[in-house]
Amino acid sequence: MQIAIVGAGVVGLTCGVRLRERGHSVTLFAERRTPETTSDRAAAAFTPPRGPLAERTLGWVRASCRAFEELARTAPESGVDLALFRELARDPLPSTPAWAADVQGFQRLTDLAPPYRDGWAAVLPRIDMTRYMPWLERRFEHELGGAFVHARLLDLGEPFDEGFELVINASGLGARRLAHDDAVTPIRGQVLHVPNTLHLDTVVVEESRGGAPTYVIPFADHVVVGGTFERDEWIEECDEPTLVAMLERARELLARTGLQRPERFGRHRLRASAGLRPGRTVGAQEDCVRLEREEVARGRPVVHVYGHGRAGVTLSWGCADEVARLCEGGSAARAPEDDSIPPRAQARSA
Ligand SMILES: Cc1cc2nc3c(=O)[nH]c(=O)nc-3n(C[C@H](O)[C@H](O)[C@H](O)COP(=O)(O)OP(=O)(O)OC[C@H]3O[C@@H](n4cnc5c(N)ncnc54)[C@H](O)[C@@H]3O)c2cc1C
Repeated sequence: MQIAIVGAGVVGLTCGVRLRERGHSVTLFAERRTPETTSDRAAAAFTPPRGPLAERTLGWVRASCRAFEELARTAPESGVDLALFRELARDPLPSTPAWAADVQGFQRLTDLAPPYRDGWAAVLPRIDMTRYMPWLERRFEHELGGAFVHARLLDLGEPFDEGFELVINASGLGARRLAHDDAVTPIRGQVLHVPNTLHLDTVVVEESRGGAPTYVIPFADHVVVGGTFERDEWIEECDEPTLVAMLERARELLARTGLQRPERFGRHRLRASAGLRPGRTVGAQEDCVRLEREEVARGRPVVHVYGHGRAGVTLSWGCADEVARLCEGGSAARAPEDDSIPPRAQARSA
């Protein structure tokens, strides 16, 4: 099949790789490519959405986890590896996540020193986006022979006029205009990269009560420090007071988890960046991914896959598998909004 994908973030690229692997002819249309996409700015820890998950979302989490574990084993040059994660909370966390049984070494942390009262640890995929996004592009374009067109589309129908048989809409925040979907809104996140001079290796996340989570995600040569969660903020820039406060929160978190002289952490900076997560809220449900096939006109099928909010990297392989099934005429699992999820299930940090 001649397929056009709109978007070259982690979602579009992963779909491109899966569809090329299955023998389809694929062209990616994108206004921005790595290193300019939101995906390049992701932290990027494996962060399944929080709270009770719809079966369909859980399926994406499981499939993605398996795919990332496979990459860690077979393609370390992709920037994917497995690392110990510790999530800490000052208040009791909701029940053990449904995906706990699918990941390595999950355990609930009970005897934590104050101020923490709850937490968990597990070995999870950790994705160095500075290496992963260029690797995904190489895999799609050079190893699998996919094509790229640098273009800003004004209408999802444009590729049909060029002879494509099916269009995949993986335009992230761009779907607000392209799919006329007002449920899509930006959630700005800021991160700071500092050198990993202290040889940190464990990912540490502190959930906050309604505010921004604090996280420290170490890679071989740098540590990603975050984060912020700024709704309806369209300006793709960092602000200095926020970066300073974020670093201070990270130092406090590291000190509470045993780092001596935390003031040594983050003395120098490598880079700071801000990205606009493609949030999508439907009714009371946040991070409501739209993944469905729609006939925009007779014989003009569009598969939408956008609105991943804070979990686009985490859900990417599971969604790409389902996109491939939909392209080939298979049916989708039930939409997340169809499942009964308690209102405002707390969202997970990213
Ligand atoms: C600070 C931060 C930390 C994060 N941490 C994590 C994390 O730890 N784990 C995790 O899973 N997720 C994380 N995320 C979320 C994750 O980055 C997003 O969910 C993900 O990047 C969304 O990917 P995407 O491909 O849908 O969108 P994008 O990466 O935004 O890509 C969209 C693509 O569509 C193209 N496009 C849009 N409109 C048009 C148009 N009209 N014509 C042509 N092309 C168009 C763009 O140019 C781009 O190529 C984080 C995000 C931020 C900002």
